[in-house]
Amino acid sequence: ERQKHIRNFSIVAHIDHGKSTLADRILEMTDTVSKREMQDQLLDSMDLERERGITIKLNAVELHYHAKDGETYIFHLIDTPGHVDFSYEVSRSLAACEGAVLVVDAAQGVEAQTLANVYLAIDDNLEIVPVINKIDLPSAQPEVVRQEIEDMIGIDASEAVLASAKVGLGIEEMLEQIVYNIPAPTGDLNAPLKALIFDSVYDDYRGVVLSIRVVEGTVKTGDRIRLMNSNTEYEVVEVGVNSPKPLKRDFLMAGDVGYLTASIKDIQDTRVGDTVTSATNPTAKPLEGYREMHPMVYSGLYPTDNAKYNDLREALEKLQLNDAALEFEPETSQALGFGFRAGFLGMLHMDVVQERLEREFNMDLITTAPSVTYDVELTDGAHRVVDNPSEMPEASGIKEINEPFVKATVMVPNDYVGPVMELCQRKRGIFVTMDYLDDYRVNVIYDIPLSEIIFDFFDRLKSSTKGYASLDYEIIENRPSDLVKIDILLNSSKVDALSFIAHRDFAQERARTIVVRLKNVIPRQNFEIPIQAAIGAKIIARTNIKAYRKDVTAKIHTGDPDRRAKLLDKQKRGKKRMKSVGTVDVPQDAFMAVLKTD
Ligand code: GDP
Ligand code: MG
Repeated sequence: ERQKHIRNFSIVAHIDHGKSTLADRILEMTDTVSKREMQDQLLDSMDLERERGITIKLNAVELHYHAKDGETYIFHLIDTPGHVDFSYEVSRSLAACEGAVLVVDAAQGVEAQTLANVYLAIDDNLEIVPVINKIDLPSAQPEVVRQEIEDMIGIDASEAVLASAKVGLGIEEMLEQIVYNIPAPTGDLNAPLKALIFDSVYDDYRGVVLSIRVVEGTVKTGDRIRLMNSNTEYEVVEVGVNSPKPLKRDFLMAGDVGYLTASIKDIQDTRVGDTVTSATNPTAKPLEGYREMHPMVYSGLYPTDNAKYNDLREALEKLQLNDAALEFEPETSQALGFGFRAGFLGMLHMDVVQERLEREFNMDLITTAPSVTYDVELTDGAHRVVDNPSEMPEASGIKEINEPFVKATVMVPNDYVGPVMELCQRKRGIFVTMDYLDDYRVNVIYDIPLSEIIFDFFDRLKSSTKGYASLDYEIIENRPSDLVKIDILLNSSKVDALSFIAHRDFAQERARTIVVRLKNVIPRQNFEIPIQAAIGAKIIARTNIKAYRKDVTAKIHTGDPDRRAKLLDKQKRGKKRMKSVGTVDVPQDAFMAVLKTD
């Protein structure tokens, strides 16, 4: 029967080890897309993914493989992101699979995110098919990597496929191993419907499109379904699979991975991790949902045009449907007006959300510098959670501020251990241990405040190790720190959106850097603008933006017409990203000035 011929699997890997390229080769080998339609990184359908060369959203496709045993197998391949911020996408796709292809770069070996992702798969009892990719590289050491997989992951790698996604080596062997090593799904076709929602996206015409893995029973057009956690009912309009374009089907059955639409317009009803069942013959118990994700980083999102507040809310709601880890709630700033406080899993996640809001929803945004959440103990013993620096209570009312610490694991070649340790110390890190992975690679482990990781840690790590270091971190606990709130005053009035929190020892230095930076990004106006940084009533740094004397537009008129048009355009775009704060025009850059140290 059909079910025996289904194989559901994910590909897991460290970023850049070749998942997406390998997925492209698989699509070609199975003739899923014609040569004409083939383009690199086909599964990375978001523009943003193509441009950055990273996978952000998981993608599920169905393909047909004619195996050497003469049978045709139905593969459901789910590509997953590799970056630490997106591991929630990985765990969601794994829940829809029986197996995982583990891709390891033959030159880089096992890296931080390889481990994190493969452990998620092992915890879910998935069958692992190891693949050593990029064997075409002169620096490839497949045998060393094979041993590493066995030693560090603890799985049998004696039959690991040696592959090159680039030149197309080992692809068929990998497909054969998928057929023989990954079990077919089980699940009673005649039981009441039970399907896991592992993703969803909003479509203007069809409403919410659910990605589902059917665990038991079948579902077809016209069926009455119930979403168990939200307790709402709908009639199924269409079911199908992505191949990779949507392909209508008559039904989906236990073991299938596909999509379902039911004219669902109310976005709030559909939560990833919910169970779909039949309304007329419901199953007794919903499936176990997903682990809740907790945002680590918060920032304010404000429309440059205050009238766009409702559009921004709508955009955030739609995006949330497609990004279960995004959280937001309304917030008001004296300087920026009405907006939202949004929570993200990390800096890359924040970047991606902001960019998607701008591109996919045409929003012009002012975003404030990211902040972690502080647990503040007040003198009266009460606790307050603060995720916005401007909301930090007065120092006189605070007994203690606790901030989140992470255990940061930096994997680095031997030669760079010195610079890495120096950086970690400077970031208030507390040394934990150092493990030699082999003769040339070391894991350096530190406990570091999360706020310091946000504050350009990654850029500095890259520049001090020529890009050789990789970083992985997990939140461990809140610890007390001697922190102070620093306010910024423009033209003598406090700009709440520019307040930030720093360790007392670094407060002065950071305040000085920031007033100078603000001076450089805020355009001159026809009056002098003092910029000050203060702790409470005490000014700790100050500078002035001088009034302009000359007509700056005069310069433009002299240039060649092409350049002039460009300049005007640039000014126009710059304008949009400007916010009047009291009497001062403040550009977007100013709100992020707090983040950089150079
Ligand atoms: P992902 O981040 O795991 O999805 O990795 P990609 O598939 O985007 O690949 C990362 C980079 O490695 C790209 O520049 C690919 O062209 C390159 N790459 C992927 N597979 C191979 C391979 O087998 N050999 C070589 N030499 N390069 C590869
Ligand atoms: Mg990719």
